[in-house]
Amino acid sequence: MTFSTTTSLFHLGWLSVATPCLSPHFNSRPHNEVSLLVIHNISLPAGCFGLAHIDQLFQGCLDVNAHASFKDLEGLTVSAHFLIRRDGNITQYVSCDDRAWHAGVSQFEGRENCNDFAIGIELEGTDTLDYTDQQYTALTSLTKQVTLQYPLITLDRIVGHCDIAPGRKTDPGASFNWHRYKQSLGHLSQ
Ligand SMILES: [Zn+2]
Repeated sequence: MTFSTTTSLFHLGWLSVATPCLSPHFNSRPHNEVSLLVIHNISLPAGCFGLAHIDQLFQGCLDVNAHASFKDLEGLTVSAHFLIRRDGNITQYVSCDDRAWHAGVSQFEGRENCNDFAIGIELEGTDTLDYTDQQYTALTSLTKQVTLQYPLITLDRIVGHCDIAPGRKTDPGASFNWHRYKQSLGHLSQ
């Protein structure tokens, strides 16, 4: 999906062109600062797309008996601000003005607890399967909207989950083309 990147489409931290799916897994940002963008991937079950399980996980209503691999997710209270599906559609779970719970134990430039100041975008996918053109297009537009609304997020403050939780997390994985993505954001100042 494509949308304006020159006029803010945010209202109270909600992006008007995203489909809202409210998660209870959030709280207030301690410093009201939004200065980092974290790219993730997720699929439930791994490698299966277009299902409702991600929404259910972030909403706290996933049936952990629905698949053997979901047992590890029991009791987990996680969320992200956005999910970009394989077809480029965007779901929003938490207002960007609030703290979503996507980064976990993490550190950026010596600062811990990245959730405090980060926006989290999940790409529906895996570390090894190419993301779709629709996802890159949507991610570029979404990133431009985010940086328009939250200008402390500069190009060098857009990172992968793997960068802020090395050794613990690998997403968005080798399948994510950082060069393509950052080239598409060329207007952003460092
Ligand atoms: Zn992640």
